[in-house]
Amino acid sequence: MILVHKFVDKIPENIEEGVIYISIECETAIHKCCCGCGMEVVTPLSPTDWTLIFDGVSVSLDPSIGNWSFDCHSHYWIRKNEVIWSGSWNTRKINDKRKEELETKLQYYNKPDGLMTAAKPKQRNGRKKKARKAKGAKSIFSGKRSNN
Ligand SMILES: [Zn+2]
Repeated sequence: MILVHKFVDKIPENIEEGVIYISIECETAIHKCCCGCGMEVVTPLSPTDWTLIFDGVSVSLDPSIGNWSFDCHSHYWIRKNEVIWSGSWNTRKINDKRKEELETKLQYYNKPDGLMTAAKPKQRNGRKKKARKAKGAKSIFSGKRSNN
């Protein structure tokens, strides 16, 4: 099965089967499940979700697409617009994968201070920047003289 890719500004209301819509602006790709069940598969593009590879002609998504939340449990790769079927997943594998993804996300978003909460505003940033600017403002050309 070959998909057709379409770059769009916004994800359209009606998703056609066999088409993968890619919105760079929304950092998302969407297509209808390749098994034909009609479910819409949303693949967010981010360092912890999917990576879109566009070679100028075709698109690939990495990693594979495991639709374990759908009844079909279909699992496939999209490689250069081609749908490459992979083995269907049993419950154990699905759970393992979910755990693995959660860990990846935690590692990515968990900053060295060990807090999972949103980044705290750093109060001293402004002052530091200002200090640097002041230093840089000291012109080395202050003693500029005639070039004649
Ligand atoms: Zn399906």
